[in-house]
Amino acid sequence: MDFQKPRYIPMSRRRRIYEGKAKVLYEGPEPGTLIQHFKDDATAFNAKKHEVIEGKGVLNNRISEYVFQHLNDIGVPTHFIRRLNMREQLIREVEIIPLEVVVRNVAAGSLATRLGIDEGTQLPRSIIEFYYKNDKLNDPMVSEEHITAFGWASPQEIDDIMALAIRVNDFLSGLFLGVGIRLVDFKMETGRLWENDVMRIVVADEISPDSCRLWDIKTNDKMDKDRFRRDMGGLVEAYTEVAKRLGIVAEGERPQGMGPVLVKG
Ligand code: UDP
Repeated sequence: MDFQKPRYIPMSRRRRIYEGKAKVLYEGPEPGTLIQHFKDDATAFNAKKHEVIEGKGVLNNRISEYVFQHLNDIGVPTHFIRRLNMREQLIREVEIIPLEVVVRNVAAGSLATRLGIDEGTQLPRSIIEFYYKNDKLNDPMVSEEHITAFGWASPQEIDDIMALAIRVNDFLSGLFLGVGIRLVDFKMETGRLWENDVMRIVVADEISPDSCRLWDIKTNDKMDKDRFRRDMGGLVEAYTEVAKRLGIVAEGERPQGMGPVLVKG
């Protein structure tokens, strides 16, 4: 398929396939493709806390593009095709597996609370956890037993998902370490991609400071969504700093990309 020159579809005429808390999915220009649009909405605690943070969507689009493009380049299969504009990317349509896959390197968040471990404690090894994607149930943690018994994924698929999670963790840990950031933990999602009757599991959704815990190595400053969850402020500044360190936005550039401001007469 030729993805180089997609047919332009005006935003107003696009079919909306799904709207989530931070993103919208639209029908793509070719069969089997979708457009993933990043909104500025920030939610936490199962959407009980909600705010619009101007510029967040643009930053997450750019940071997630960077991560997914590099994963593609090193042979980790993802749904990502290419970024289209400041807020949108072209992706392959996949059947999302209803699991949030969390990989942890350092104790934080719900693990620290649940097991009574101080935040910041290095874990003896990386730990993979699964949560069942279900807002009504608050995304409960589940084991491989639940996943196979209820048919959310097969044992082989779980093996594939765990292998992907380890590769993504290795890549992301090195990437962030190289720019002075500690990857504490992150969440990823996966989907089934069919190509000529052959199915494979690919990394889907987004990987951004919304779905990772990123701490500055020197100061331990939080550069992720905990700034919003814990009312610390400075979220856009922190995400911009992540983008700058990765070399995605240049010094002085306004990644928020608000563009020209209309003067109202
Ligand atoms: N996470 C996420 N979406 C969720 C839940 C968690 O992206 O719905 C990410 C979160 O940003 C962190 C990791 O998964 O990087 C582990 O989150 P944790 O289980 O500690 O939950 P939290 O403390 O965020 O409630």
